[in-house]
Amino acid sequence: MGVETAISWTDATWNVARGCTKVDEDCKYCYMYRESLNNTRYNPKAVERTKTVFNLPLRLKEPQRVFTSSLTDFFHEAIDPFRYECFDIIRRCPHLTFQLLTKRPERIHDALRNAYDEAHWYNLPELGNMMFDWKNGRMPKNVWLGTSIGSQSSIQRLFDLLSLAAPRDGGVYFLSLEPMHGEIILPLDEEVDFGPKVKDLLKWVIIGGESGNENGMYRYRPCRLEWIENLVDQCQTAGIAVFVKQLGTHIAKELGLKHRHGADPSEWPEHLRVQQFPV
Ligand code: SF4
Repeated sequence: MGVETAISWTDATWNVARGCTKVDEDCKYCYMYRESLNNTRYNPKAVERTKTVFNLPLRLKEPQRVFTSSLTDFFHEAIDPFRYECFDIIRRCPHLTFQLLTKRPERIHDALRNAYDEAHWYNLPELGNMMFDWKNGRMPKNVWLGTSIGSQSSIQRLFDLLSLAAPRDGGVYFLSLEPMHGEIILPLDEEVDFGPKVKDLLKWVIIGGESGNENGMYRYRPCRLEWIENLVDQCQTAGIAVFVKQLGTHIAKELGLKHRHGADPSEWPEHLRVQQFPV
């Protein structure tokens, strides 16, 4: 729950809570549920606010990327009562870049509005100013906002996310396509409800195949090399930063890679060794 992380697209993780409820097939082999098998102190379905690590960003002095959160969903309804406190920590840490990733982007708009109301209720004027701007489409500069999609069937989440971007916002909106368990074609030329195309707003795409076991409760679903190749191609053609995180267990077996999850770029075909960040 602390700072150290093996996630290659971030520097640190910050968990404001632990526990979550599943959204759809994308959550089938959720990492947090898997971890709870080894740590029976936690009920994975019970969302509980963290204690010692809740204020962790306030202790991070060096600029770095902070993934929020790896053991819950930041926009889960159980976090509603104290999310304004999380936003206030984000406000107090302008030197950090918070990577907020959710499978519930349809809840973000109301969450921003509620945090704005709560800032007034608890007499926090600086938070109120930040939330006023944010709910009106001007995301704080130290926030990257993303959603997670595992197959084409959950692509609506991309449109829910991008509907939050204002035309001149310029903020980093991103997609995590991990664990990818079905082919995904990005609708880059489709328009978001207020006019711009997806490719004009989307700034970053993370790609990853699923890791898991051959048998048992936590297996991997196949991710195909050509799915990853097509996505890298789509992003590069559109000028969107792309980060291939891992190829997944299926491709690792197919290619006979030493890393069982296919997470060592030195073993990949050269054209897939792409790990960019948005500028
Ligand atoms: S939203 Fe994320 S943390 Fe929650 S169950 Fe799904 S995969 Fe797990």
